Amino acid sequence: MALIVEKFGGSSLANIDKLRNAASIVAADYKKENQLVVVVSAQGDSTDHLVEQAEAIGRRISPREMDVLLSTGEQASMALMAMMLMSMGVPAVSLCGWQAGIRTDALHSKARIEYIDTRRICAELAQDRVVVVAGFQGISPSGDITTIGRGGSDTTAVALAAVLEADVCRIYTDVDGVYSADPRVVQNAVRHYEIDYDEMLELASQGAQVLHNRSVEMAKRFGVQLEVKSSFINGVGTRVREVVMEKRSVSGVARDQNVALVTLEGLQDQPGNIWRLFSGLTEQKINVDIILQPPAVGQQTSITFSVPRESLDHAVEMLTEHRGDLMYESISVDDRVCKISIVGAGMASDYGVASRMFESLYQAGVNVRCVTTSEIKISVIVSEEDSDRAFIAVHDAFF
Ligand code: ADP
Ligand code: ASP
Ligand code: MG
Repeated sequence: MALIVEKFGGSSLANIDKLRNAASIVAADYKKENQLVVVVSAQGDSTDHLVEQAEAIGRRISPREMDVLLSTGEQASMALMAMMLMSMGVPAVSLCGWQAGIRTDALHSKARIEYIDTRRICAELAQDRVVVVAGFQGISPSGDITTIGRGGSDTTAVALAAVLEADVCRIYTDVDGVYSADPRVVQNAVRHYEIDYDEMLELASQGAQVLHNRSVEMAKRFGVQLEVKSSFINGVGTRVREVVMEKRSVSGVARDQNVALVTLEGLQDQPGNIWRLFSGLTEQKINVDIILQPPAVGQQTSITFSVPRESLDHAVEMLTEHRGDLMYESISVDDRVCKISIVGAGMASDYGVASRMFESLYQAGVNVRCVTTSEIKISVIVSEEDSDRAFIAVHDAFF
């Protein structure tokens, strides 16, 4: 008997037929005498619809109430999944995050899982029930409902697999594995049968939404055997694990459309200014990614940096409020940009990779706005209108 955690994403549960299909995968594994914990996301686009409704009320929404609202999507899914399993003769019980013992910190909408009290889940498993857990949610130290970030049900599943020491954690989604790029945009993307935790983490962090990046980080830390599979096509999918072979130069291309650029012009070139700027953004929990600063001309310089689009208004508000202390003349923003990244653990020892990427962008007539590199990735920011062309051209250069 194995203990298996199976997670179904929103697209795998979008309507009753899809829900029945997902439940039949669980039922088949249950009938093979496995113990099963099933993590569900909200159905289809229902989380987006809940966000839209809240935003229609106003811009300054209570983070606590937003989490109460967003957690309802997963709550509906878990009850439907348990009912569907029972209708197939499989004993099941559904648990919200708090009932499943998922304790988080208090940072609404971006909470981190701190601890899981598995007593209830283990008691239900001991009764031979399939335990259906609502993904993406937990409970804060003060007893409030929290959510752990968009796409976070993957992380719920891996966290449960880690604490329960599950044999495997299967992420069922609408594609049959992890590809060299998003197969919905890049037609000739190739499927990986296996991929390294580090490469997967970088791809997910750079925008390959097939896995939530924190789920990969956690899988690596706890050695969780992770598989990405299609809930519609029967097949092997992709295994994410420690791969001990020679690393590929480039294992994938990712695109992040959740990017906006902020530029401050006429910034005083003096010690401490950059620190004041970025510590202010950090205090506001605004994540800065790419930073570009040209050499100063006289006493003045400029700086461009990227933030997630949802943080743009907040960043501008904070920067405008502190214009006097930060000593800059003007601020401009551009949210019609995206980031294209190539990822590969072997690229550090392959000198030609960067120039091949830039050549492909040049050949496609794409202007590069910013560049950033690390040991295992190179990212460029390009205009939104060049996004698909750039994504496909860069992929074609390596696959
Ligand atoms: P779910 O609802 O199951 O959580 P997501 O929409 O979050 O599904 O993730 C699956 C989607 O991720 C796919 O439909 C695909 O368009 C996208 N995707 C982006 N990059 C990749 C990649 N490298 N490999 C596979 N899918 C990818
Ligand atoms: N329902 C949440 C979202 O849409 C969590 C998830 O699907 O993983 O972001
Ligand atoms: Mg997802």
